[in-house]
Amino acid sequence: MTSNIENVNIGIDNDPDHYSYATHKLTPSRSSKWPVLRKRWLAIQPKCQSCGKTTKLEVHHIRPVHLYPELELAEDNLITLCENPVFNCHFVIGHGLNWLAWNPNVINDAMSMETSINNKLFN
Ligand SMILES: [Zn+2]
Ligand SMILES: [Zn+2]
Repeated sequence: MTSNIENVNIGIDNDPDHYSYATHKLTPSRSSKWPVLRKRWLAIQPKCQSCGKTTKLEVHHIRPVHLYPELELAEDNLITLCENPVFNCHFVIGHGLNWLAWNPNVINDAMSMETSINNKLFN
């Protein structure tokens, strides 16, 4: 198993697209079936499973593909998270503020984030 960590250029700007690009560089070869599965997954889970937003969605692999290539197409390894600029759920909840890291508790953390958002009070 080879990871490409030394080739990853972590962005120093805040453009989430650049971070995504860095993430993708960790997984140089991807299944040709992935784009189809990704589209189908987003039809089933069309909202960020953390904050509920419907824009800038990414399909996150709970266990990263560069470490668990056999789980690339496993649907129970997927969660929809957004990359919105105010709160980037993919970066914060999925990767713990480091694209080279992964959060094994992402499902629970996304659920408690969703609960917190739903239970918020005003004044
Ligand atoms: Zn979100
Ligand atoms: Zn991810």
